[in-house]
Amino acid sequence: MAKRKIIRIDEDKCNGCGECIPNCPEGALKVIDGKARLISDLFCDGLGACIGHCPLGAIDIEEREAGPYDEKKVMENIVKGGENVIIEHLRHLKSHGEEVLLKEAIDFLKKNDIEVPDYEEGHGSLPHGGACPGANVMRFNRKGAVKKRQRRRRDRNLSSDNGPYR
Ligand code: SF4
Repeated sequence: MAKRKIIRIDEDKCNGCGECIPNCPEGALKVIDGKARLISDLFCDGLGACIGHCPLGAIDIEEREAGPYDEKKVMENIVKGGENVIIEHLRHLKSHGEEVLLKEAIDFLKKNDIEVPDYEEGHGSLPHGGACPGANVMRFNRKGAVKKRQRRRRDRNLSSDNGPYR
C-alpha cells in the first residue's frame, strides 16, 4: 500500500447533517451512527469535492497509507444511483482532468450496456470557484440536466399515451 491523498473526517466537528453525502461524486460517504464516514478508501479519489460542502469544516485532506482508488468499484456503486449520479461522477472526473479515470468509467458503462449520458452538456462555459470547481460545475448544471430529462420523459409518455387511436 502506498501513501496518497484521501479525505479525513473530524468526528468531533461532524454533526451528521449529511450535506456532504450528495456532494461526493464517488458515493464514498455515508452517515453512520450520526457521523459521516468514508465507506471505503477505494472510493475516495482524494480530490476533495465534498470539502466545501461541509458547513462545519469537518472534512479535509490528509496523506496516508490507503488502497488505490478503484474506478471500476466506484462505478459499480455509482450506477446504482441512476443517470443523474452517473452524470455527476463523469463531470467531476472531466472537470479535474482525470481523463484516464473518465475513460475507465465510460468503458465500464459500455461494457455493462449502460447508456453513456450527455455529461458534457454546458461544461466549460460556467464560472469556477470554491473548493472543488468540478463540484460547482455539477451543481450549476444539475437543474438544467434534470429539467431536460423530465421534458424528454414527459414527451415520451405523451407519445406513448396519446397514440393514433386516442
Ligand atoms: S457535511 Fe460535515 S458535518 Fe455534515 S455530515 Fe458531512 S462531515 Fe459531518
